[in-house]
Amino acid sequence: MLSYEQARNKVIEQVKRKRGPRATAVVSVWDALGMVLAQEVKTDREYPPFDRSTRDGYAVRWKEAAPGAGLKCVGEIKAGDTVREALAAGTCLQIMTGAAVPAGADAVVMIEHTSREGDFVRFERTAQRGQNIVPRGSEAAGAHPILTPGTRLGYAELALAAQVGAARLQCALRPRVAILSTGDEVVLIDETPGPFQIRNSNSVSLAAQVRIAGGEPVVLGNAADRIEDLGEKIERGLKEDALVLSGGVSMGTYDLVEGVLKAMGAEFFFDAVAIRPGKPAVFGICQGKPVFGLPGNPVSTMVTFELFVGPAIDLLSGAEARVLPLVEARLAEALKERPGLTHFLPARVEWRERAPEVKALKWQGSGDIAALAKANCFLVVPADREKIEIGESVSVLLRRDVV
Ligand code: AMP
Ligand code: MG
Repeated sequence: MLSYEQARNKVIEQVKRKRGPRATAVVSVWDALGMVLAQEVKTDREYPPFDRSTRDGYAVRWKEAAPGAGLKCVGEIKAGDTVREALAAGTCLQIMTGAAVPAGADAVVMIEHTSREGDFVRFERTAQRGQNIVPRGSEAAGAHPILTPGTRLGYAELALAAQVGAARLQCALRPRVAILSTGDEVVLIDETPGPFQIRNSNSVSLAAQVRIAGGEPVVLGNAADRIEDLGEKIERGLKEDALVLSGGVSMGTYDLVEGVLKAMGAEFFFDAVAIRPGKPAVFGICQGKPVFGLPGNPVSTMVTFELFVGPAIDLLSGAEARVLPLVEARLAEALKERPGLTHFLPARVEWRERAPEVKALKWQGSGDIAALAKANCFLVVPADREKIEIGESVSVLLRRDVV
């Protein structure tokens, strides 16, 4: 049985092999959050475009601003002012943060380090050449590539594009990910379940996870545990860029997903992973499309999506697979788990005494959505550890949506 790292690498390897060129569209920066850039973005001019003051203070010749020395202040430069005249020797100019430093000036002295009487400014300490000035062109040269194809557009990347006037961006279209729940016990969320039925919450969590991963969810509802119904709905799902199923991959008589996919020509790369929850997770390629059969218990569905489906969506978007958001934390309470499988336990990580500390939450197993809704991470218990003592360092997989 594969470890979760091996299974994840299989997904990455296969999806990289199978993905074709991605269709693109021009998207406004206001709408492009989470999309993947399909063009290069270059600076329209140097950055900063002028020698920029980073402080409110006085523009000076650094040698003239010695302690005890005084300079006459001959004017003021606000952010946005056009600066034409050079600083005359023996004078200073009051300057604001973000304003252009005049020619001749080679330092800005913070206002806090000066005192003023009328037009006369005194300096408390020795100035350094270049202090509090970001020189023109020091962040980026003109016509310089600052964003490359394959970059995922987060808020900083979008701001950078906006800064250089690239208000419309060529982006890869979000991969369309079909979501199909299975199970005779499952009803749609706006239906009233019978006493032994449950609502299709998995399609809701999966759609949210697809969105967060940068994909476009296409929710196909629920298939009955019957070969014909499953076949029809899987066929429909295979029209999209990828298909994610929940349920029907365990060992029960009515777990038919793998068999139906096989009959439709799927090639499987794993059908079990050494994790808990989520062991029966299936990954294959069917008619050229990545297909995931995730176990139906809600927490299993959520964990296996994060581990295996996330990287596929990254790659289908034209980006590299993101690393898992794993951090180290100090264990707050001793733990005992059955060895042989890597456990992903709903947990909370908090910042305590300048270090992260993590505690597993009480839960009733992989059906317990309420436990996960209280969690901000999964505590990762390695397969070879039966006991972990309080104070030991453990890995924590952060929930990208709430941390
Ligand atoms: P399965 O993997 O098909 O054996 O499903 C395991 C359990 O997961 C079922 O007994 C249900 O309790 C639960 N389950 C399956 N599908 C869903 C769904 N779409 N939404 C919420 N829970 C589900
Ligand atoms: Mg089922």
